[in-house]
Amino acid sequence: MKIYGNKQALEQLKRYSDSGRMPHSLMFCGNDGTGKRTLADFTAMLYFCGEREKPCMKCSDCRRIGEHIHPDVIYADCGDMSVADLRELLRGSFATPVEGKLRVYILSNFHFARKDCQNVLLTYLEEPSDSVRFILTASEKNAVLPTILSRVAVIPTCELSPKECEAALKEMGVTEGADKLAAMFGGNLGQALKAAKDKNGTLYFDLAREYIAALLEYHEYKALAVTRRIPQPKEDKRGPLKAVVAAAGNIIHDAFVISQGGTPSCGCDAELSRRLAEKYPPFVLNEMCSRAAEFTDITSRVNFNAVLTANAFTAALFGAAENKNLK
Ligand SMILES: [Zn+2]
Repeated sequence: MKIYGNKQALEQLKRYSDSGRMPHSLMFCGNDGTGKRTLADFTAMLYFCGEREKPCMKCSDCRRIGEHIHPDVIYADCGDMSVADLRELLRGSFATPVEGKLRVYILSNFHFARKDCQNVLLTYLEEPSDSVRFILTASEKNAVLPTILSRVAVIPTCELSPKECEAALKEMGVTEGADKLAAMFGGNLGQALKAAKDKNGTLYFDLAREYIAALLEYHEYKALAVTRRIPQPKEDKRGPLKAVVAAAGNIIHDAFVISQGGTPSCGCDAELSRRLAEKYPPFVLNEMCSRAAEFTDITSRVNFNAVLTANAFTAALFGAAENKNLK
């Protein structure tokens, strides 16, 4: 396991570990693809590793955590978890750890956890057991209850510089277009890697950018022409449209974030997002965001006609853009 970037997070963890004061609960907070889950594993190793130089990455605890097979490290995705499931899962924390030392819960996507789920966890954080540790990951700090935030050590994660990201991609075996991917994703290693693994990954992003460029020009025909170039391979007729819609939606989402004074985080072209934010007022961008989210949802379902859906998506976005002067 190698950790790229996130120097500050590592330094903070090292300070905790060296002083023998690892917090009972912590939360890694940052955009998707910035290494939260890798840092969570690293932290679990710090909790368990008995070597002087922690984590040694070699002892039985470190190795099994690295392979996700340690019996006392429990992983759960809070994105699709019911209160009953979470209660059941956490009830296990009262039992003695399998190997007698500690039990560590790694709860990912905690920003998706429903309020009632968050409240369930809160009761455990309020009276922490000596043998239980919690590591949360979240990409939206604001979606987490303040009562939880005040009980966990929040450690931010961040993107690499494009140069670092490019080097990391190459080290991980991405031979083609590492520089382009690093720039496209603003140094977000996880997202760049995901795109690199998909043989059409960069094509989808290029089409999404062309599509948004047409929206910037308010040129509906051009946008439609872009959708006609989205591949429809026999084995997965709808997947590519889904990928392009999601990528276009992310660029629009970032434009809205910029219009609200925030920093773009999920799109593949911050410059395009900035130009969109200049061209369209926030209420239009907001409307476009909802329409894009709707279609990301539609294209996540199995049954839809790719051509008709692409047309409807375009009509929805340009319809929203047309409202530009209404307010
Ligand atoms: Zn170790």
